[in-house]
Amino acid sequence: MKTANSEPPGRALRQNTVVPLSKKTSIAPAREPLVAPAPRPYRSVDDMVHELRPAMPVHCLRPATIANAAKWFVKQFPGDVVYAVKTNPDARALATIARAGVRHFDVASLAQIKQVAEHVPGAHMYFMHPVKSREAIHGAYFTYGIRDFSLDSHDELQKILEVTNHADDMNLFVRLSMPNNQAAYSLSGKFGVPLEQAPSLLMAARKASAKLGVCFHVGSQCMNPDAYALAIQMVADLLQATDVRLDVLDIGGGFPSIYPGMTPPPLGNYMKAIKKAVKSQPMLSQCQLLCEPGRALVAEGGSVVVRVELRKGNMLYINDGTYGSLFDAGTPGFVFPVRAIRPAGGLSTKIAEFGFFGPTCDSVDSMRGPFTLPDDIREGDWIEIGQLGAYSATMRTNFNGFYSDETVEVADKPMLSIFGIN
Ligand SMILES: *Cc1c(COP(=O)(O)O)cnc(C)c1O
Repeated sequence: MKTANSEPPGRALRQNTVVPLSKKTSIAPAREPLVAPAPRPYRSVDDMVHELRPAMPVHCLRPATIANAAKWFVKQFPGDVVYAVKTNPDARALATIARAGVRHFDVASLAQIKQVAEHVPGAHMYFMHPVKSREAIHGAYFTYGIRDFSLDSHDELQKILEVTNHADDMNLFVRLSMPNNQAAYSLSGKFGVPLEQAPSLLMAARKASAKLGVCFHVGSQCMNPDAYALAIQMVADLLQATDVRLDVLDIGGGFPSIYPGMTPPPLGNYMKAIKKAVKSQPMLSQCQLLCEPGRALVAEGGSVVVRVELRKGNMLYINDGTYGSLFDAGTPGFVFPVRAIRPAGGLSTKIAEFGFFGPTCDSVDSMRGPFTLPDDIREGDWIEIGQLGAYSATMRTNFNGFYSDETVEVADKPMLSIFGIN
């Protein structure tokens, strides 16, 4: 027999009847929610593994560690700290960085702008991608009130001016190409005006700017503080030669984190080198200073926990890889710190070197390491891979159907810390 309660909801809606919640419940009885509620923070990565025994990779975020790094930069850098959002756009990471005192955010797309606007109300955003679509410039300027833009060509300058109806309240940053030989990653291959072509662009941008800035990127994971000093010297020489007044000097990102076999000088040395270089240039000493750290702010604030699905000799088939959160362990060859976790205990105290294969079918999905782990590591063991708060979760794809969005907060210390070697 058909009762009123068995009417499908669609029918009820068509008849324009308001169905009270209690009735709705009786139509579709309450079920377990399909999406589990956000898990509480865990004391440690080990606690999380013991409790969840995760079959999928788990991204572990350490808010206290990220806050610590952000506070260090705010205190030690002699200017404004601008967080490079692309490094880790996770909402919790953004909120943590903002709470730690960072008010400025370097964004590269309209999607990032929306994200920052949503999670950090009142944030000062800098649109520092030197090649932007007209739609992105329009949205940034008119919808989000962004006034700071970078460019590295006359055509981009023209584009920005056309889209903003020749606004006179913009701060334009000319991106310069700088030598990158001290960094693990070059960021000048694609962007930046060569120094010899910079004068005419600087003069044109000066005419169109409220405040004129220059910016550069010495390359990511820059291992030598002198790279900043050299770049600052080159900016000063350029200004001398062009006689253009500069308001803002943005020294970009590139500050290193620490990885096995790659221990940079203390971050304090970078600050000293930068302060000294700026002070010695009268043309720069009045400028507002900006830096755009990404990696150094968040790298040690994240780990990924993976599971071993098969072992073949010294190669471990794990459930995350270069199409997931381990891009940098692939072709770029970063060696991340690793640690085996076997809740039942009994791991061998002898160690051996391993390489990893990721879960997809592509042979590019392999990571040579070497990663040092107990020599009896086997299927079903978990591995914490550290220093993955930067350029990790944000690089994930769904290739081959392997994708994990599970993120938890943990309160233990990072596996390595650059802030511990000052
Ligand atoms: C990627 C990027 C950064 C951050 O670089 P890190 O090496 O991670 O510090 C800063 N500024 C710009 C323009 C970038 O493209």
